Amino acid sequence: MFSVHGTGIGGGIVIGRARVLESRRFDVARYHVPAAALQAEIDRLDAALRTVKVELRSLSSHLPDDAPSEARALIDVHAMILDDPMLCDAAREQIGEHGWNAEWAVASQADGLAHQFDEFEDPYLRERGRDVQQVADRVLKVLSGTAGQPLGAGEPSIFVAADIAPGDMLALKSALGFAIDQGGTTSHTAILARSMNVPAVVGLDCARDLILDNEWLILDGDNGLVIVAPDETVLAEYQQKQVASRLDRERLKGLIHVPSRTLDGHLIELHANIELPEEAEQAREAGASGIGLFRSEFLFLGRRSLPGEDEQYESYRAAVLAMRGRPVTIRTLDVGADKALDPGDVASITNPALGRRAIRYCLSEPEMFLTQLRAILRASAHGPVRLLIPMLVHGHEIDQALRLIAQARERLRERRQPFDDRMPVGGMIEVPAAALSVGLFLRRLDFLSIGTNDLIQYTLAIDRADHAVAPLYDPFHPAVLRLISMTIRAGHRAGKPVAVCGELAGDHTATRLLLGMGLSEFSMHSASLLLVKREILLADVGRLKGRVSRLLNSDDPAKVQAAMQRLRAEPMGARASAASADPVASEASGAG
Ligand code: PEP
Ligand code: MG
Repeated sequence: MFSVHGTGIGGGIVIGRARVLESRRFDVARYHVPAAALQAEIDRLDAALRTVKVELRSLSSHLPDDAPSEARALIDVHAMILDDPMLCDAAREQIGEHGWNAEWAVASQADGLAHQFDEFEDPYLRERGRDVQQVADRVLKVLSGTAGQPLGAGEPSIFVAADIAPGDMLALKSALGFAIDQGGTTSHTAILARSMNVPAVVGLDCARDLILDNEWLILDGDNGLVIVAPDETVLAEYQQKQVASRLDRERLKGLIHVPSRTLDGHLIELHANIELPEEAEQAREAGASGIGLFRSEFLFLGRRSLPGEDEQYESYRAAVLAMRGRPVTIRTLDVGADKALDPGDVASITNPALGRRAIRYCLSEPEMFLTQLRAILRASAHGPVRLLIPMLVHGHEIDQALRLIAQARERLRERRQPFDDRMPVGGMIEVPAAALSVGLFLRRLDFLSIGTNDLIQYTLAIDRADHAVAPLYDPFHPAVLRLISMTIRAGHRAGKPVAVCGELAGDHTATRLLLGMGLSEFSMHSASLLLVKREILLADVGRLKGRVSRLLNSDDPAKVQAAMQRLRAEPMGARASAASADPVASEASGAG
């Protein structure tokens, strides 16, 4: 028995036999083609490219209705890569100029491109290198005549692989879980596993080499752990955990329609974060009372041209309609740093996280920004929309953004296109300077949303994407907590709503802390909503406030950690004992 560790993508615990997928990287045959046969070799490559194109088209058109929304987008990205001259034209040139065989030309071109992507610090861009490899592997399979062998046949298993292309992953209907060597939380593999609701661990490095086909595995998607060939004691322990976690999930579902009210009667808004409009429906079904963060940049990434006003409007409107009258907070484009529109741009910048990112980028591209603003405003005619601006630091940035919003409104009036004239405009507090000069924001904006992911990064000087410093990325550092608390208090004093939409909002171990700071609007991935709601049902804000205010007096991270643990362990009032036994039952009987 041994275990391997990676990044957990969630989904709980599964126990099953390993199905180790063949390495997708082939031993590529390399030989020189005689001059007289070069054109035939180029024709062989072109035929393979055409076959893969048809394959991808067919994959896309045969997607089942219930396929995750990202699936089609991912297949489209692969089709685009297949058309990219950097891959196919360059491979043709290698054949023509150097006399390489088609496999050699494709593999070396793909390796070169993937290597360039690997150089990026940003995990999102590194993942795009893997997409190039996956497309090249499809072409190599066709060239070698091994394409078309079904992956997923057989009994339900935990699939172990170096990486799995999105299209292939969808074919793995029998998957109990995924143990993948490559990728991080933003990899396509992770995104799809989450939307397929299959437990997964990514970034395992060497699982494919260490695990044998048919071996028993325990995969814990929540804790990023794969236990190989477990002994009887461990197996029994995890079987129990699995049953408990399943029961827990089932019980949690009973909370979907329960109002998220604390023991002392505070109603807390639980909103969802989405990347694509299709996720809004899922968020509503999971009980979200609104969308607290629609990361609009995902409509812009992985494509050659920017989406136009009508295309954006359709996407925003789809999310608004799916939420049936609940508020939808659409964040304007947050590109740059970890999400670059043009990867080439970022490569030449020493420190992209401190560069022309988010609102800085939008203000430097006013036409593009105005197009997005008009599209968001038009969507506001279909339901409550709030517009959220990321990465603000200066008053003049806010003023400039507000002027452009006024200009966008004016243009729509001229065109006689409807929009909500009172659409609230808010700003993200995700840079320490913003938290420290929050009055600047409150005087100009209608609401605030704290982006803890970046606030932690910029406060602690820890690159959120760099594994080497990951242990220092401490959401509970006193400096971070004070900035969050200051912002919430300032918002209350000014009578303006303040939300938290970074990952901290979805961390149920932080719920009491945030409630004690006075937070009443949380926004998170839909999968975390019910766990956080359970914490809320068992909390007494009045009592938490005093505890949290004492905790914030300490500037010692170790003391804060200890106080946090006490805060989490503390029973909350007489009614809490009934509620902790079964929050659903207690809520239904009016105990909460
Ligand atoms: C944040 O920084 O906390 C946030 C929500 O924005 P993003 O993660 O998209 O940078
Ligand atoms: Mg951010």
